[in-house]
Amino acid sequence: MRHKQTRSFTPMILAIMAMIAILLGMGSKTSPTHKSALATTVMPQQKSVATPLELNQSYLLDVLRTHPKKEVSEVLWQKIAARDLRVRGLDDPSASGRFRPTPIMDSHGNLIKLMGTLHVPLALIDRARRGEPSNKSYLQFVLLHESVHYEQIASGRFSSEVILNPSTSLEECVAGWNLEREAYYRECQFAMSIGQDSIIRSYCSTLEPEAFDQNLYKVLRQDRTDNCSTFWEAELQK
Ligand SMILES: [Zn+2]
Repeated sequence: MRHKQTRSFTPMILAIMAMIAILLGMGSKTSPTHKSALATTVMPQQKSVATPLELNQSYLLDVLRTHPKKEVSEVLWQKIAARDLRVRGLDDPSASGRFRPTPIMDSHGNLIKLMGTLHVPLALIDRARRGEPSNKSYLQFVLLHESVHYEQIASGRFSSEVILNPSTSLEECVAGWNLEREAYYRECQFAMSIGQDSIIRSYCSTLEPEAFDQNLYKVLRQDRTDNCSTFWEAELQK
């Protein structure tokens, strides 16, 4: 997916201001994303309460808009400005980021448009906002990783089911591996290009395919709730 690189200055500023206004508005009436969000009672809407989430989102928008990679600063940013993608803070300290796709399909099952939500950990945004360079770089890695997932599904190369639900078949385990491998690999290439790969040494110590796969397997098996890790291990030993 490619977007025009030539944009006039004034509409861009207006779009940025509109986006900030929209996101500040959403932040004031929306709780941080939580696993049990659907089960909780809806609280009465509060007016004019400045929460840390609002500040973080303004900062996060800036990081998105000025990201060194076009996949983020152009593709993701334009989707956010067009309100096809929403940005939400994630209050799970163990998470690194998440893209939840909402594909819009026609009656034949063809993808018309990919919408969705980009979840970014609040704790990570806070650390990066305090000016810690390694945390800002890590935030940039996370955003690039999720932009790869966006492209994978928007292009039709992967089904949104692979990212949404634990895999139920070997075919899905293969797709799940390929989807994550591509995102982590691109993350590592970027980290190496800016000399910051030591931040994510556990999976970016090498791009040599076999060693990279072994390192990645150790990372991915940690939070799988399906049986894919067993399958992946068997495949890696072949
Ligand atoms: Zn991923």
